[in-house]
Amino acid sequence: MSGDAAAARLAALEARAREDLRLMSYPARDWVRPAPARSDPVLDVLIVGAGQSGLAAALALEREGVTRIMLVDASPAGFEGPWETYARMETLRTPKHSVGLEGGLPSLSARAWHAARYGAAAWEGFARVRRHDWMDYLRWLRGFVAAPVLNDTRAGALADAGDGLIEVPLAGPRAPARVFARHVVLATGFDGCGEWHVPEHIASAVPPDRLTHSNVPFDLARVAGRRVGILGHGASAFDTAGAALDAGARSVEICYRRRDIPQINPHRHLEYVGLLKHYPEMPAALRWEIAHFFDTRDQPPTQNAWDKATSYPNCRVRAGCPWLRVAFEGGEVRVDTPAGTLAYDFVVAATGSIVRLEARAELALAARQIARWRDRYTPPAALAHDGLADYPFVGAEYQLQPREAGTGFDWLGRVYAYNFSSYVSMGPHSTSVSAHKFSMPRMLRGITRALFFGQIDAVMPGIAAYDEIELNLGEKRIAA
Ligand SMILES: Cc1cc2nc3c(=O)[nH]c(=O)nc-3n(C[C@H](O)[C@H](O)[C@H](O)COP(=O)(O)OP(=O)(O)OC[C@H]3O[C@@H](n4cnc5c(N)ncnc54)[C@H](O)[C@@H]3O)c2cc1C
Repeated sequence: MSGDAAAARLAALEARAREDLRLMSYPARDWVRPAPARSDPVLDVLIVGAGQSGLAAALALEREGVTRIMLVDASPAGFEGPWETYARMETLRTPKHSVGLEGGLPSLSARAWHAARYGAAAWEGFARVRRHDWMDYLRWLRGFVAAPVLNDTRAGALADAGDGLIEVPLAGPRAPARVFARHVVLATGFDGCGEWHVPEHIASAVPPDRLTHSNVPFDLARVAGRRVGILGHGASAFDTAGAALDAGARSVEICYRRRDIPQINPHRHLEYVGLLKHYPEMPAALRWEIAHFFDTRDQPPTQNAWDKATSYPNCRVRAGCPWLRVAFEGGEVRVDTPAGTLAYDFVVAATGSIVRLEARAELALAARQIARWRDRYTPPAALAHDGLADYPFVGAEYQLQPREAGTGFDWLGRVYAYNFSSYVSMGPHSTSVSAHKFSMPRMLRGITRALFFGQIDAVMPGIAAYDEIELNLGEKRIAA
């Protein structure tokens, strides 16, 4: 498939998509009354994070006539999110037919982009989109966002600025020192609820040059010729193992506590309209039970990650092998396990994230005031779970909630935790590819409702003041 032909198809697709956006833009007029000016930019919505969620939110807001928006992202342009930073899988984990980012416009869909890029027939040849293609699709989709996107820019601690505005300090080469926004969308990804977590007994024992978490960028050259130990059984553990083996690791051992590795992925069962669309309307007890279920029965690694890592003769999978004690002795990492003491030159903690809102720069001032599940729901003893109880108890449209109303943090209701913080309230997948179709319109409804009711005082005067002549009487004389 020649590059020229692909470029011509992509150009044609872009033209079609822009025409579709124009044809579907009804009602097209800007309707949000501007907020009073301040010394720094005043926005209707600031979107923190320009990954897939941030882009989808911006596209959706612009289509709803909310245009005083801005996106900021700490990553360099074109490297937002995990896809080409710390993700190491070959393909996405979600099946290719998941839609949602395109906001219902087929010409903006991943499939349309892929067909333009590779030819229509290519779509039939695989089950999951290649990771690099997904990132290229997101780079293409970004071209349809009219709002400014400031990369290399980190949002700092959100604070109340009065008059229905939230103050957000920004640190970045092209960014103002701060902006004011009526609403803030935290599209901050999987670790948006806290941080990637290395268990303390490992972090305190192993020097940083011999240790990494799987979900951070690291130079794979550091594992070449080395014995690598990986703790975890999820997709990231096997993705990292495959990448380390490709990079010439002398050996890789994947260790995990469980006796068996999950082969069934009940996450797929969640993908039906009823549940994805109405998730937050389910009783708190059921949402808790689902979160508890998924927190204790993990996802299997993807088939190709398993096949790739286990195809290497120098890869060993050790079940029932928790890391009980870890020490750095004699220039190597020594790990005590039920199977005896294992020795590695480099270790990887594929141990996921933890909820620690205090660790989030953007929530540093408000974290302690954010309502958690422990503040709103008491599970039956059999389902008690401290980790889950720390998750924010978000509103039906992703709004954070103050622990107590009237304590000066009601403004949190205009901050949308469109990230993994919403796990217990909104379900395991609500901000990933497989649920955008339902979760994004839900959040948008919350934002446009708040913006509209914030100017409801103008509804009747607007109607009464409307004076655009519709009927032109022409020359016709009307007898009195
Ligand atoms: C390794 C991995 C693989 C995954 N694979 C899949 C998959 O195959 N299918 C699927 O459906 N889901 C998958 N997910 C889950 C989810 O879809 C992804 O996490 C996805 O990246 C979420 O998109 P996002 O835009 O919400 O967040 P991200 O893509 O993570 O983007 C968040 C952005 O926010 C920025 N940011 C964070 N804090 C700040 C701040 N204070 N200031 C400025 N910028 C900030 C970051 O720089 C980042 O670019 C995967 C997750 C991981 C970690």
